[in-house]
Amino acid sequence: MKVLIATDKPFAKVAVDGIRKEVEAAGYELALLEKYTEKAQLLDAVKDANAIIIRSDIIDAEVLDAAKELKIVVRAGAGYDNVDLDAATAHNVCVMNTPGQNSNAVAELALGMMVYAVRNFYNGTSGTELMGKKLGIHAYGNVGRNVARVAKGFGMEVYAYDAFCPKEVIEKDGVTALDSAEELYKACQFISLHIPATAETKNSINYALLKNMPKGALLVNTARKEVIDEAGLALLMEERADFKYVTDIMPAAHAEFAEKFAGRYFSTPKKMGAQTAELTSMPVLLLPSRLSAS
Ligand code: NAD
Repeated sequence: MKVLIATDKPFAKVAVDGIRKEVEAAGYELALLEKYTEKAQLLDAVKDANAIIIRSDIIDAEVLDAAKELKIVVRAGAGYDNVDLDAATAHNVCVMNTPGQNSNAVAELALGMMVYAVRNFYNGTSGTELMGKKLGIHAYGNVGRNVARVAKGFGMEVYAYDAFCPKEVIEKDGVTALDSAEELYKACQFISLHIPATAETKNSINYALLKNMPKGALLVNTARKEVIDEAGLALLMEERADFKYVTDIMPAAHAEFAEKFAGRYFSTPKKMGAQTAELTSMPVLLLPSRLSAS
């Protein structure tokens, strides 16, 4: 049995050593493909792999076609929009992710970006504080609930909307649960986005939703760029000089945003949510949860 770690952005050595120890102790062989630059390298490496461990690497139908011996893909991370689940099911390949492992790191980043934005990106001018402000958490999953915990420490008034999480679960944390995204965006000056990128959520954060946010609005995106309707957001930011956008996932229209909305827009240069020493050195991928199987 061959387990392949295919990571464009590699794990820390200690993590790879930890995975190797587990894999070899189980009597399997470990192969490594790191920092690859061409898809052809991935297609070649997967040919005889029975299992693949990935980060944000793309596993599409072409990769699955090439991986004739493949039984399982483990995505080290929460979002799994980089794996074509329908194609995996068609190829009889089980897909798992590791939700919750990086949620504290992402939550800390979201609050850090919030402070950065309200302090005017530390440009020497006077900003505002978070205490007493209304924060709306859009999706109350592993990251969302950690954002709530940290935001309450800042003294924020915390609201949330989740399409699937029961209201009692949200309210148990001392968070006000609302019935719709529309209500959340109307009520809260600050919104932290934590919805996954799915067919339903792609482009769903649009002009109509954002335009109702109160004055001095700030949208923080540590989820995915695909959930944002970039044209709608750009139009709104042109109309509203009080609207700020900070993101951990660089928009396709980054250059346009950086030029037009200087002083109100910030993107990390690459996704930084899970880039902490604690996470990149995690030796084993704990508690994977099954997403697709046949
Ligand atoms: P999670 O699976 O624990 O939570 C997702 C939540 O979204 C669930 O509670 C679910 O009920 C809710 N949801 C799904 N569809 C919805 C909809 N249409 N409307 C409202 N709520 C909906 O995931 P998580 O660990 O909290 O991560 C959230 C997302 O953040 C991931 O899908 C991923 O895209 C992104 N993420 C980014 C980074 C980063 O490095 N920036 C790291 C981890 C996760």
